[in-house]
Amino acid sequence: MADWDRIQQRGRVEDRRGRPAVAVGGASLGMLALVVIFSLVTGTDPTPILEGISPDARSNARPVGTEDPQYSGLDDYELYVAQVTGSADMMWEEEFREAGLEYRPPQTVLFRQATESGCGGAHSQTGPHYCPADETIYLDETFFDELTTRYGARGGEVAQAYVLAHEVGHHVQTLLGANRRVTSNEASIALELQADCYAGVWAKYVEDADVITVEEVDQAIDAAAAVGDDRIQQRTTGRINPESWTHGSSAQRKQWFLTGFNSGDPDQCEVR
Ligand SMILES: [Zn+2]
Repeated sequence: MADWDRIQQRGRVEDRRGRPAVAVGGASLGMLALVVIFSLVTGTDPTPILEGISPDARSNARPVGTEDPQYSGLDDYELYVAQVTGSADMMWEEEFREAGLEYRPPQTVLFRQATESGCGGAHSQTGPHYCPADETIYLDETFFDELTTRYGARGGEVAQAYVLAHEVGHHVQTLLGANRRVTSNEASIALELQADCYAGVWAKYVEDADVITVEEVDQAIDAAAAVGDDRIQQRTTGRINPESWTHGSSAQRKQWFLTGFNSGDPDQCEVR
């Protein structure tokens, strides 16, 4: 079992899960209200339509200004996220110091359904992502249920940690200015594969520190493969169209994760 308590450092985490969701498009509270009004007008039962939105959209429908007391303190999930991002921060601090650079840790925002972000709003359907404008990772952990049910990943704590380490990888790219050079799909895939490689370097780092076992690294490899563009397309459309890829194939994502893991060296992550 992964032993996250071995990690001393804590990442910067802001918990917004207890807040009522902010409408930023998609299944917002406003949309929920419209569905209910539509149902009142037409006399239809709103339940099936609400079911189609998402269970969280309903459970999050609290009066504005009230906080869900479930998230008022530091719960296990928030601690876990702070530990995982803390371990990535520790690793990158070292790497930056060796290169004579200064590392600035990212912020991680936990939210449910939707929240405001420096990139025009974060939505749970987008999945975990990094916004360079405010140097913040946005994470709605309900995505991980989808990772297992929809994308067929085995899941697990280390699989989720890989996703976080990948997002910290995008932060590093921002600090190094790598993301400014992206002008094509191909370049965007290169950045994604580099972030997977960085996540592999992180996996090596926490495995060396006895936080995770080498068997658990398989969880991360499995998750990397599950979010390959070809696998996602196969599952969602039944067709594979490399022209529209944004993250790389399952094989590529796995390969670059392993390049990072086997070398333990971010300098090996230059994807061309
Ligand atoms: Zn990414």
